Amino acid sequence: MNFFEIKKKDSKSRARLAVLHTSRGDVETPAFLPCGTKSLTGVVYAKEHKFWGARALQVSTLHHWLDPGDQTIKKAGGLHKVLDWDRAIFSDSGGGFLAEKLVPRLVDPRMRVSDVLLTEEGVTFRSGSDRTLKKLTPESSVQMQLNFGSDAIQTLLFVPPASKGDKQISKALRICADWPARARQQFAKAPLEVRKKTLLFATLGFSFGGKLSENSIRANDAPGADGYAVCGIGQAVAKSEFSRRLRAMIGRLDRSKPLQVSGLGDPKKIILAIDCGADLIDSLTPYASASLGRALAFAGQPGGYRVIELSDARMQTVQEPLDRSCGCFTCLNHFQADLAVMFGKGDETYWRLLGLHNVKFYCP
Ligand SMILES: [Zn+2]
Repeated sequence: MNFFEIKKKDSKSRARLAVLHTSRGDVETPAFLPCGTKSLTGVVYAKEHKFWGARALQVSTLHHWLDPGDQTIKKAGGLHKVLDWDRAIFSDSGGGFLAEKLVPRLVDPRMRVSDVLLTEEGVTFRSGSDRTLKKLTPESSVQMQLNFGSDAIQTLLFVPPASKGDKQISKALRICADWPARARQQFAKAPLEVRKKTLLFATLGFSFGGKLSENSIRANDAPGADGYAVCGIGQAVAKSEFSRRLRAMIGRLDRSKPLQVSGLGDPKKIILAIDCGADLIDSLTPYASASLGRALAFAGQPGGYRVIELSDARMQTVQEPLDRSCGCFTCLNHFQADLAVMFGKGDETYWRLLGLHNVKFYCP
């Protein structure tokens, strides 16, 4: 049986219904993959995502590498044990976080302690937690994800955001040219029984326009990749440009393989991405919004939504749940007034309660 079964295609768009078979159960797509990395979700535990029917979690390789470390996780029996999660785990390569959170020094080869240095060998950076120098390479990224015991892993690609401009992106792409092949070579060293149950996704950079994008796809779309992961979406691209660019990119891919779009939190863009052919979406937005006191609730037309801001002092008198139709723990037990008072007092319980609600909004 093929690990990715397309069940139905939409006649008016590239959207499709499919089932991704993993060794830890099926994932029906399109699907939103909630984040399972606790340091990014506040105080929501991985296993709590089962309440909303999540079949798979997305985790950050960089965060689990820096704390507690891939070797520690391996010794503990893998990330499924550590997170107490028996369904599928998808991990990223770590490159997306490095590119988005820190400024790459691509033009100036002299490294500054707080900066990222990109070389042919890999990405060097200084850890924010213990201030030691760390190096992430295509080989170490794959090996760490294998040590975690992830069900789907990604090849390392360092993708500067689109705002960095074509010159820097082009330079990064030249430096990373042999990374996809090196990642696949590392994967090929894993025991057969591990390779048989692990999906390898080729990472593609969304910020690469035109020829750059073509080159990136050519480099990554070699035999051996089970699917694609598009990263570097950012929030700055307008909806029309986002749709045009994603459609053009997907048009060059093998459509028999699953396509994941990472870092996409805008609900309207998620629907656009599914229309363009995306099968899996992941984003930190449910938790990032919660940390800012922001809740999302369905409203109006199908696909319509509203944003509730707890920072608005008027919320402290609203004796209504965030969303009457939701049914999450937060909506069953708290009015907006309770949550707004917690937020106003700096009681961080609001973060957990809003996180639980927001993630249900993304996994309806
Ligand atoms: Zn709710």
